Amino acid sequence: MTYDLIVIGAGPGGYVAAVRGAQLGLKVALIEKDPDLGGTCLHRGCIPSKAYLAAAHTVETVRKAQKIGVIFAAPQIDFAKLVASKDEKVRKLSKGIVDLVKGRKIDLISGEATLEDPRHVRVGGEVYETRFLIIATGTTPVRPPSFSFNGTSILTTDEIFRMKTLPKNLLVVGGGVSGCEMACAFNLLGSNVTVAELLPEILVNEDHLAVKGLKAVMEKRGVVFQTGREVSAGDLASFDCVLVAIGRCIGEDRLGLKKVGIQTSDCGFVKVNERMETSVEGVYAIGDLVGTTMLAHGAMAEAICAVENIAGEAQTIDYASVPRVIYTIPEIASVGSREEDLKKSGTPYRAGRFSYLANAKALCHEEDEGFAVVLTGTEGEKKGKVLGATIFGAHAPDLIQEVALVMKNGLSVDALIETVHAHPSLSEIVHEAAEDTLGLAIHKIGRRPVSIW
Ligand code: FAD
Repeated sequence: MTYDLIVIGAGPGGYVAAVRGAQLGLKVALIEKDPDLGGTCLHRGCIPSKAYLAAAHTVETVRKAQKIGVIFAAPQIDFAKLVASKDEKVRKLSKGIVDLVKGRKIDLISGEATLEDPRHVRVGGEVYETRFLIIATGTTPVRPPSFSFNGTSILTTDEIFRMKTLPKNLLVVGGGVSGCEMACAFNLLGSNVTVAELLPEILVNEDHLAVKGLKAVMEKRGVVFQTGREVSAGDLASFDCVLVAIGRCIGEDRLGLKKVGIQTSDCGFVKVNERMETSVEGVYAIGDLVGTTMLAHGAMAEAICAVENIAGEAQTIDYASVPRVIYTIPEIASVGSREEDLKKSGTPYRAGRFSYLANAKALCHEEDEGFAVVLTGTEGEKKGKVLGATIFGAHAPDLIQEVALVMKNGLSVDALIETVHAHPSLSEIVHEAAEDTLGLAIHKIGRRPVSIW
């Protein structure tokens, strides 16, 4: 039998591609080498990290509760129970993907795929034929040879969620997104955490003020940041656990990309055009493998783009409106340009800011750390258009979505300003930051936010 579409890899990119293919009437097969579906995101990334962060968040909430007159005993962590609860959630979600795939009559093929040619895929002794191919095989953590990885005390994000006991002293090597998220979680769960970063600052690609704010909050809770610091083997002795989170890579080409002529960049990412098609006609690549967003929702959007192009529609992705989130506590969420980007490119802009401090809902919930900044153009066709936003504070990932919607639809800042926002709600922070681009934030005098509610 010849398939219309074979998808290799059942992470968020791959399974979404398979489902959309089936929805559009294609005969689809999905190949996965792991025993369970869901990829890095479900088993070693987004979901397990958020399960730990949810527990960490609860610790923080309990601590803050006393300020509003609700007194609990100091939280205790039953780490074994937390791990079991995380495993149960992952199992449930993975089963949900199997149900989706089976419900759409997608053939699930278990095993490691290799490419025979652009139309034939081998899994074990079987070769499957297809009209179109989508490759969504993701990335793996970078493992520098200077660390003796043992999967238990010197490990990457692939292994940390399998740890059965809470580390006493954790060294996180790498102050990027995953490093900071894990540092935040383990610190609140009770570990002593040190973050070592080679660069002069953590989270170098984020809004500097947001990073400064986050660092201050985490330091107050006891996290030690050592920036501009290269870790050597001798530094590891004082830690019972070392998490190396310094990035992800494509690794060895076991699939056979080069053999079939698929071009890759110097870093090994697969090159694709705006339709997600590789240098080989009929072969598409999506998700982490193409190195665009390195985010699960980016992979899902690329999956839909690729399949719809295969089905004959002309789809592209507007990367500028894809939100980016760091799930620290508080979170940092952004979309479009950062202020630093606009300065660097010489784009004339205006920044509107508003603080969580002056928001009634944030105050009631003791979540008054943070701010929102909305950036608008001031000249030419960019005049009044929203060019980007960063939100540092509670529920930032949910709040940023409104700005993403405005940007995706090319709307001006008036769309944010003229939409009535519920009171009291955190969304008023975005509303007032938008108003502030015109100097019209109601609860602000000059640069000073005023809380009157
Ligand atoms: P993957 O999810 O990596 O899936 C690839 C799949 O392909 C795997 O299942 C693999 O087994 C399979 N595969 C590989 N080779 C073959 C082969 N030859 N044959 C068959 N199968 C194969 N992103 C977010 O958006 N939000 C978050 O909160 C977030 N948190 C993260 C936290 C951590 C700690 C990490 C590490 C990542 C996080 N990410 C997050 C990133 C997110 O996990 C990835 O962007 C996403 O998983 C990429 O999806 P993908 O489908 O491209 O690849």
